[in-house]
Amino acid sequence: MIPAKGYAAQSAQTDLAPWDFERRELNPHDVQFDIQYCGVCHSDLHQIRDEWGGAIFPMVPGHEIVGKVVAVGSHVKKFKVGDIAGTGCLVDSCRTCDNCKDGLEQFCLNGMVGTYNSIGKDGVPTQGGYSNTIVVHEDFVLHISDKLDLAGAAPLLCAGITTYSPLRHWKVGKGHKLAVLGLGGLGHMAVKFGVAFGAEVTVLSSSPEKEADAKKLGAHQFVLTKDEAQLSAARGRFDFILDTVSAPHDINLYMALLRRDGVHICVGVPPTPYQLNAFSLIGGRKSLVGSLIGGLPETQEMLNFCAANNIVSEIEMIDIKDIHKAYDRMLKGDVKYRFVIDLATL
Ligand code: NAP
Ligand code: ZN
Ligand code: ZN
Repeated sequence: MIPAKGYAAQSAQTDLAPWDFERRELNPHDVQFDIQYCGVCHSDLHQIRDEWGGAIFPMVPGHEIVGKVVAVGSHVKKFKVGDIAGTGCLVDSCRTCDNCKDGLEQFCLNGMVGTYNSIGKDGVPTQGGYSNTIVVHEDFVLHISDKLDLAGAAPLLCAGITTYSPLRHWKVGKGHKLAVLGLGGLGHMAVKFGVAFGAEVTVLSSSPEKEADAKKLGAHQFVLTKDEAQLSAARGRFDFILDTVSAPHDINLYMALLRRDGVHICVGVPPTPYQLNAFSLIGGRKSLVGSLIGGLPETQEMLNFCAANNIVSEIEMIDIKDIHKAYDRMLKGDVKYRFVIDLATL
């Protein structure tokens, strides 16, 4: 086994702390890469607190992982030692079901294996990127262009693909009015992609101090959701709302901002169920839909799109010992716009 060290939660009630564990020896198709940077996703916090249920402890979170390849298995074709590599939210799936064959491994009918808080095919719990090194099957490792700032590229592996994928799926672009609800890690990437795809983008935010940043990110308009006058002035305006909010919120309020046939896309995962009023759907023939990260081919497509268009995440680099300070700020919506851990500080 390969010795590894990371930061783990031992239970839903305990803080993350240093923890020594092991990675598997490389199988013929495995790639080992040493982790340089790992983004901090709100899903990390939901899961270490067991807000979605079924959490597996000890848990090393982190699924926005980038670094340099240090070893490859004997049959690996896609990578060589020294390459820049990344892994997102998935590390395995069956590869034979209809969804896997369509490149939608996140919907694997036989159960995808998450990068952490999941049980691997070998029966061992998976552990994520708040750690020094990782071993992943080459099918689930992505190439990252050396044109991109590596720390800024890390969040593309979850925040990037989670917002790119639904915008592509629902063909959001020129002629569309897109609203991004919540300007955090996912939200700010949604603004960048929405603008790059040619949509007119409005940020719907509960934080007045984010207005200037929203405009800097390319948003055309800003609506302060706490201001009832601003909210009602935006009624019936949008073709799409991309909802990235992590906390419980009243989606009926926002669905009223959609035009006829408008689509409310949920990507945020609040810990409690949405309360949906049927009138929010029937008045204006609206749709409520959702999207989960993205498959491997689309993740590579997104990374290539980012390299071609010079898109990375806006980041605040942190020392791993400050992870709880980062979580506290995340809970207050004070993220500008993704914390990224420098694993050299481990
Ligand atoms: P984040 O950086 O913390 O951003 C969430 C934003 O939501 C905040 O910055 C804030 O924006 C807004 N917000 C927070 N509390 C709010 C409240 N009480 N009322 C209204 N707005 C509030 O989180 P993230 O990493 O972007 O993740 C967002 C959500 O997506 C999480 O639930 C995460 O688990 C989920 N997620 C889903 C997928 C998927 O595949 N579907 C993938 C990754 C993450 P403002 O200050 O602008 O209001
Ligand atoms: Zn994530
Ligand atoms: Zn499958």
